[in-house]
Amino acid sequence: MNYKADIGVFGGSGFYSFLENVEEIEMETPYGKPSDKIAIATYEGKRIAFLPRHGKNHQFPPHMIPYRANLYAMKKLGVKKILAPTSSGSLRADIKPGDFVICDQFVDRTTGRKDTFYDGPVTKHISSAHPYCPELRKIAIQVGKDLGITTHEKGTVVVIQGPRFSTVAESRWFSKMGWDVINMTQYPEVYLARELGICYANIALITDYDAGLEGRDDIEPVTEEAVLKVFAENNEKVKNMLFEVIKRIDLENSNCTCCNVDLSGLDL
Ligand SMILES: [Zn+2]
Repeated sequence: MNYKADIGVFGGSGFYSFLENVEEIEMETPYGKPSDKIAIATYEGKRIAFLPRHGKNHQFPPHMIPYRANLYAMKKLGVKKILAPTSSGSLRADIKPGDFVICDQFVDRTTGRKDTFYDGPVTKHISSAHPYCPELRKIAIQVGKDLGITTHEKGTVVVIQGPRFSTVAESRWFSKMGWDVINMTQYPEVYLARELGICYANIALITDYDAGLEGRDDIEPVTEEAVLKVFAENNEKVKNMLFEVIKRIDLENSNCTCCNVDLSGLDL
């Protein structure tokens, strides 16, 4: 493996401006090209690999993102931990736009996405019982508190296919199921990280209330403009959080079991 980086970040393009002396790498994988060139830089003595999951020009909608290539490229670079901020909708009144949620479970409602590195002849069934890294989540939760950001310590994200937003009926159903957050990219991204034994944490940046909330006529259904507005406001908070989490990650001592995955059969 050609070591280049320790920590990977998937996120919006706003992150570039905060990295110095960036080296951009164009990669090719057995699963095609990643969403864009990968930017490598050093921060606090740690090597960071940054990849905008939708591409620099936002050319990949959620269902067209080359998830396997993105994860494989990170693995190839030597990345052991991935931080994944995502703009997300809230399914609960007490999770408000501007809040962050450190998700601990997902429900997959996507369809037709390439979601495994094991298409045969090698077959493996990797557990996704606890898909998110408990250690990275703990750091993110603590950093959120320390920075004074309203951070919810857990949450189930339902991942929809997109690009369309939910109907009112779907949104009501998701809320009734007890799911907290809705998003279009967490699956298969988090599960592919599991297959590769990479620690992964999602920071769900709440931008809206999906299709509105039951019994709350004052809350408007989501629009793209509203999402982009809150996302822009969140940008600064997200950057501060990411850099502080990166600072606190201990690369030498990990107490999680994320990397205990048999990688034989993968062309790494
Ligand atoms: Zn882990």
